[in-house]
Amino acid sequence: MRDQIVEHLRFAEELGVAGVSRDPAWRKRSIEQPSVPGGPESVQSAPAESPVAFFTDSLAAIQADIGDDCRRCKLHALGRKKIVFGVGNPHADLMFVGEAPGADEDEQGFPFVGRAGQLLTKIIEAIDMKRDDVYIANVIKCRPPQNRNPEQDEVETCEPFLFRQIDTIKPKVIVALGKFAAQTLLRTLDPISRLRGRVYGYRGAKLIPTFHPAYLLRNPSSKREVWEDMKLVRSLLKAE
Ligand code: URA
Repeated sequence: MRDQIVEHLRFAEELGVAGVSRDPAWRKRSIEQPSVPGGPESVQSAPAESPVAFFTDSLAAIQADIGDDCRRCKLHALGRKKIVFGVGNPHADLMFVGEAPGADEDEQGFPFVGRAGQLLTKIIEAIDMKRDDVYIANVIKCRPPQNRNPEQDEVETCEPFLFRQIDTIKPKVIVALGKFAAQTLLRTLDPISRLRGRVYGYRGAKLIPTFHPAYLLRNPSSKREVWEDMKLVRSLLKAE
């Protein structure tokens, strides 16, 4: 237990947390002043928000619709092993959306289980949540060969299943992990450096883009910005 606390504090320090205080006023401040840049009125609408589904769906029904051997796009013939549907709390307030499964995810059938996934777990724990509290999915559900970016036809084919997952889970906050997820969900080509640090209205949730954990593994100095984004996530969850 003590080791876990020490590790948590070490990671918080690594993420750029200035310090920890036991003063109750310190906690209260962050609850009363959600740090939405520019205030809540600065929440922006995603440019092309698709209509929210009005029928009752369930994660099991969505997974059954995809099936065990989806062949809707070419990825099934390009070396994909497992379809990576998504994992976590079906009633999560917080949802993370990545790009596409990598090699580890393709082997195991679960999102974010490799090195980037271990860092994502630490990022979740840095805001005092557990991986099981949140829901984790990707824009597309099959691994592209050599981890290349998903192609437009693959996204167009697979994204409706992600939309159904979001509409079923109804998270309060969605974190788009990395340039690809943020640009795809928000229908923009703006760089992630411009997209992050803002809040976007998205399918009834607030969407916050941040850097991808795999990018953080290569650029550890950007953990500071991710910590800022995660504090924003935490304040939005508390404000609801
Ligand atoms: N990167 C992603 O975008 N998703 C995963 O599931 C794993 C790595």
